[in-house]
Amino acid sequence: MKKNLILILKIILTFAIPIIIQAKSGGPDIVGNGAGRIEQLTYFHYRNLDKTISFCLNTTRCSSSNEERQLLLNIRQIILDTRTEKDRLIFLPESEFQKILNPDLDPAIRIAKTDFHLNSSIYFNLNELYKIPDNELSSNLVAILIHELGHQTGERSHAKLDAIGNKVSLFFELTKTEILLDVLNAPFKLSVFSNRGVYDFPELLLQYREQTFEAPSFIQKLNCLKDTTLVGIQLSNIHWEKVDYIDDHFVLRAKVWSESYCEFKTQKVITSVRHSITFEWHYKVDFQPGDQFFFNLIKSQSLIEQF
Ligand SMILES: [Zn+2]
Repeated sequence: MKKNLILILKIILTFAIPIIIQAKSGGPDIVGNGAGRIEQLTYFHYRNLDKTISFCLNTTRCSSSNEERQLLLNIRQIILDTRTEKDRLIFLPESEFQKILNPDLDPAIRIAKTDFHLNSSIYFNLNELYKIPDNELSSNLVAILIHELGHQTGERSHAKLDAIGNKVSLFFELTKTEILLDVLNAPFKLSVFSNRGVYDFPELLLQYREQTFEAPSFIQKLNCLKDTTLVGIQLSNIHWEKVDYIDDHFVLRAKVWSESYCEFKTQKVITSVRHSITFEWHYKVDFQPGDQFFFNLIKSQSLIEQF
């Protein structure tokens, strides 16, 4: 990489810190529709909600009756049918949001609303969305989307949809962890999917804008005790370390604690071993027109320490 390019990168990296602070301070700072962080996050959950519903329907957490189960299947079908449509989700400032649809529909509606048919958009109140704390945003969005999509199936009871939205949201909270790291004006998003069972292996996914990167392999490095077999892993306390800029590339590091479940070969008894895992991604950055950056992965690895 040329020296002047490195200088530009360093300058931009210096500005990355205020960007993080600004994002956490909240407040609608979005011009246009669908361009901002929360809008992108809402679309992400909308596109992935069918999977969450499917997993949840395999448990008893999300539906306690055939009626609830059918409602969730109908919601899931709407997502599958409309996922690629534009303008399904519309984000408005408070004043414009209040003018959309019949205000008598439900005077308590503050965050989102829609109509009782399949072709309606879902309208979001940006001012209210930006009041939701960052760490509660994803679970709130899942509950809101379930509620509004439920109306589109014809269900009119807000209370019923709140109840089922909360069930799916609680399940989602249990299975997914997401941490964001702002680099060069956009977040790296590390998602961890885990069903939190002893006999379950987590999946990790790293995203930057439209780019997706797998986590470096780590499972085969987690040794069990003698005469036991690894049957599952749970991860906790996942967090980003400070971004390093070494020579001409970025190094991103995420740390996590792991608990490996090891079953004795002769009997169904499980013991566990704890490790600390560091995931590392090394990137070179290509500049592209329109202030876009392309992150070329040149190396990734996992480093394991036993507690
Ligand atoms: Zn409602």
